[in-house]
Amino acid sequence: MKTTLRTDITIEQICKGFVYNELEGKGLFGLSGKLVIQPEYQRNYLYAEAKMEEAVIQSVLNGYPLGLIYFNKVGTDKYEVLDGQQRITSLGRFITGKFPLIDDSGMPHYFDPMQDDLKKKIKETPLTIYICEGEESEIKAWFKTINIYGIKLNHQEIANAVYSGPFVTKAKEEFSNSRNAYIQKWSAYIKGNVSRQDFLRVALEWVAKSTDDDVVDAYMSKHRYDTDITELKTYFTSVIDWISGVFTDVETEMRGLEWGRLFETYHNTPYDPADVSAKVHALYADGAVKNRKGVFEYILGGCKDPRLLDIRVFEESTKKAVYTQQTDVAKTSGKSNCPLCAMGNDNNAKRIWKFNEMDADHVTAWSKGGATDISNCQMLCKTHNRAKGNK
Ligand SMILES: [Zn+2]
Repeated sequence: MKTTLRTDITIEQICKGFVYNELEGKGLFGLSGKLVIQPEYQRNYLYAEAKMEEAVIQSVLNGYPLGLIYFNKVGTDKYEVLDGQQRITSLGRFITGKFPLIDDSGMPHYFDPMQDDLKKKIKETPLTIYICEGEESEIKAWFKTINIYGIKLNHQEIANAVYSGPFVTKAKEEFSNSRNAYIQKWSAYIKGNVSRQDFLRVALEWVAKSTDDDVVDAYMSKHRYDTDITELKTYFTSVIDWISGVFTDVETEMRGLEWGRLFETYHNTPYDPADVSAKVHALYADGAVKNRKGVFEYILGGCKDPRLLDIRVFEESTKKAVYTQQTDVAKTSGKSNCPLCAMGNDNNAKRIWKFNEMDADHVTAWSKGGATDISNCQMLCKTHNRAKGNK
């Protein structure tokens, strides 16, 4: 990666063509249109407190350093502010008369009516700017390394910066736009914050058929200069439609599941939504089901894998009572206290296992309606219990 240190660009030059979007609270452009102050991937201007804006101006007047500013070179004579967005926005807002400095006696001083020597001082102060350019991979590594002033970018925000272009812009209009009327419907199945790119991330994971950062990044890189997002949008809609078609109920636990993987695995299997709904209700009402998040995949898979549901285990007191009872009977009859060992002919047929050498087993499996109470509990030696569990 190539890094150039520039100390010749003045505040006046940076603020030339400064545009502030009042509605969105964003400093947009500067440097005569060559600089994007708030790129798509950054959050809105955060200097909520006027004191912080004033401090930037006061620092300049006092000759204090404003700190390093980083630009990412995105084209011939085109730059984006990676770090320094808030400071530059404060400078631009002051010079364009958006806020005054308040002096000790409470008097406001706007830029235009200021004394010429003070205005000159502000305008001619140079900034310390690092301009960075490089390959996607280099920029990505660098973004991850530097500690961005005031904000911490998540992986998707970094990826949006690294692969900035028409595809990201369009994709953000759809998936990172909190005014999109569909967001509410999507949030039934997707967890996270729209403006932190969590929904865009999920849409990309689904179409890329992976949750792996490298695979998702590769998809973005491949489509970086695409001018439409048809594939992304169509795939996303297919997944959402499939979920809401199969599961007519919306349950809290549906949010944030791996719907992309579930869609890939099960979307060619037919389901009866009424039957699915009845199963969801039955499992939600079943006190033995500890993991409700697993209910959906359990049903999609044909109710075959109760491990997904984390079925409640027997109480310790139940296990001890059953152990004592089985062991007493076994000692009287001279057989093993594991009923399966007792049926065999080997050395274990008469073996009395210790409590900690045995595990509790559902006589009638939970999936076949067996309860998790003493009436349905038997103690088996660990070997037999494991063998039964694997059937
Ligand atoms: Zn046994």
